[in-house]
Amino acid sequence: MSEPRFTAPKEQAAGIPAVVSSLQHVFGKAGVARGTKALLGLNQAGGFDCPSCAWPDPDGHRAVAEFCENGAKAIASEAMPQTLGREFFAAHSIADLMAQSDAWHDLQGRLGGPMLLRENATHYEAITWEDAFAIVAEELRALGSPDEAVFYTSGRASNEAAFLWQMFARAFGTNNLPDCSNMCHESSGLALKEAVGVGKGTVTLDDFLEADVILCVGQNPGTNHPRMLSTLEAAVGKGARLVAVNPLKEAGLLGFAHPQHLRGILGKATPLASTYLQVRVNGDMALFRGLAKALVTIGAADESFIRDHAIGYEEYRSLLEATPWAEIEELSGIGRDEIEDLALLIAGGERRLITCWAMGLTQHRNAVATIREIANVHLLLGAIGRPGAGLCPVRGHSNVQGDRTMGIYEKMPEPFLAALEKQADVPVPRKHGFDTVDSIHAMHDGRAKVFIALGGNFAQATPDSAYTAAALRNCRLTCHVATKLNRSHLIHGRRALILPCLGRSERDGGRFVTTENSMGVVQSSEGKLAPASDQLLSEPDIVARMAEAVLGDVGNIRWRWLAEDYDRLRTWIEAVVPGFEDFNARVRRPGGFYLPNAAKERVWNTPNSKANFSAAPLDAFRAAEGRFLLQTLRSHDQFNTTVYGLDDRYRGISGMRDIVFLNAEDLAALGVKPGGRIDITSRWHDGERHLNGFRAIPYDMPRGMAAAYFPEANVLVPAGHVAEGSNTPASKSIEVSIHVAAGL
Ligand code: SF4
Repeated sequence: MSEPRFTAPKEQAAGIPAVVSSLQHVFGKAGVARGTKALLGLNQAGGFDCPSCAWPDPDGHRAVAEFCENGAKAIASEAMPQTLGREFFAAHSIADLMAQSDAWHDLQGRLGGPMLLRENATHYEAITWEDAFAIVAEELRALGSPDEAVFYTSGRASNEAAFLWQMFARAFGTNNLPDCSNMCHESSGLALKEAVGVGKGTVTLDDFLEADVILCVGQNPGTNHPRMLSTLEAAVGKGARLVAVNPLKEAGLLGFAHPQHLRGILGKATPLASTYLQVRVNGDMALFRGLAKALVTIGAADESFIRDHAIGYEEYRSLLEATPWAEIEELSGIGRDEIEDLALLIAGGERRLITCWAMGLTQHRNAVATIREIANVHLLLGAIGRPGAGLCPVRGHSNVQGDRTMGIYEKMPEPFLAALEKQADVPVPRKHGFDTVDSIHAMHDGRAKVFIALGGNFAQATPDSAYTAAALRNCRLTCHVATKLNRSHLIHGRRALILPCLGRSERDGGRFVTTENSMGVVQSSEGKLAPASDQLLSEPDIVARMAEAVLGDVGNIRWRWLAEDYDRLRTWIEAVVPGFEDFNARVRRPGGFYLPNAAKERVWNTPNSKANFSAAPLDAFRAAEGRFLLQTLRSHDQFNTTVYGLDDRYRGISGMRDIVFLNAEDLAALGVKPGGRIDITSRWHDGERHLNGFRAIPYDMPRGMAAAYFPEANVLVPAGHVAEGSNTPASKSIEVSIHVAAGL
């Protein structure tokens, strides 16, 4: 681990430093032979899908190295050969392990066998699979109601595992199926369903090569979707203009040195964003309101599209006229002239506009309204359902979209529930279940008593860390299906289980699973590496054996029979989930297949069969005088809550994570030297939350804004501070006060 220090941020991403970093992680953690084999199978046709983000693979040719630095880090972490078994857990108590960092946890190796933590015990101990499933059965059967159980899913679970998991929960009698999507693109799904009738993006990779203008909003692709930079470079190369909308200056939006092109190898970057709008935190709704106002003013509205396909335009147009520019400028932090220039840029071509976004938009109180505003801009331009144009929420977890398609959702629509009930011949509950934030409250106040997670790191991914920890500790049982040790295994119920599963890169007895990427492509994923331990089970096998232990075979469901051969499972998916006709045959074609997306065909599966404009009052979360708006974010050495290292190369950070980025003038106004220690406090109706002694780092961002890494800063986010409608934690706009650290 490098010494804590900070330098000037980079102005370009990738290049040879990314190659060096990738190889250091892969060969350092997995070894040369296993690491090389892993990289050669990663994202290859017939190989396995990257367990990190959900950026799609090219439809046709795939490069030998079809991965990015962060894909390499993810596979390095998963492909570690050393395993944690009874000796490791005998040597490390829960308290010892809690004292270690998340980065240290990831470095220890793979979980090697099932582990049990008995009530009042201080150490995990080894247990057999049978005994582990028996404990799950005992606890679930002892519940007063199925709704006292929570079945959580992380976006890494394959389609096959996710389908079995939701069927298990529903056969058990509950819709308590929270997932990581509740914390990431739930706001996108809700807004898009209301606007255009589908909760997913409407573009493909090819559309990027036909676009005139690409907006990247509230997203840092250089770290969170790195292969997207190749697509952006190709689009810019074909004449598209990239416009970045982000409070922070991010290297991956400024320039890209393609490590597989000579120019990039020589360190010469392709400039990406030709316009960089450093909007204030949560100023995006105002920016798009202004953009729409400017576009209408210059007559850029596609009247025929609006007439034939949309509803609500007149009301929206009146709202635009009534919205003063002064308010737009004040709330967005962007000048009228810059917004009007952007409108001219967009209207100047064939209005082939693609807007991409991620958590910088979805984790705000008004996130749904903001994303509806973006949809409004696309509807008034007719920039949807034609080449080079559309909406692109970029998913952060490899199969989070697939899990939702498989039924991992606490509010699945009736047609799905009815189809499942018919196929499985078991009663399926209709009462909506708990999402992630509801689950935290339910565990905290005792309405939920058993928490079972299919992957993930719930305690670290969720807001209000102290409150969530108390909620998990309030459970009778916490049980985690996982590949690596993480902090959620240490923040446990009265009893706890860790059930180690195969990684996506590992062989699974000749069986392959499937995933769905951000653009709705379903493809196969088959592991190539020898499993790290002979005690590991695949996720579908674990779910099937757990369900069998709890329920036995019920209705038409033969749990083990279904898991034995995933083609059988896919036949059930085909029967229940629309768009999976001939699933087993089509998924065996190279590259898999696209799921239908009606909005791409300008068919609107909305209640009124129209695309809908929204006319929401303009809104932005503002901090009181003298306070700051803090957003949480990832470092470059991190994927979600998995911390691979302590560097954040593009932002000039080495060897530390206890930092807060602030505008240099704000540091001076606070009387803090660069690197000086500060205390941060957030206030909520139920009290204060503190993050003390962090280092203040000057960064190019608007005044009054602050940014810190999660999971560390999650302690500042009240569980009740959520996005309206989607209930997504509003982790990107937290009002805080900042002072020189006490005692200094
Ligand atoms: S862009 Fe995402 S999916 Fe692709 S290799 Fe990188 S982390 Fe993996």
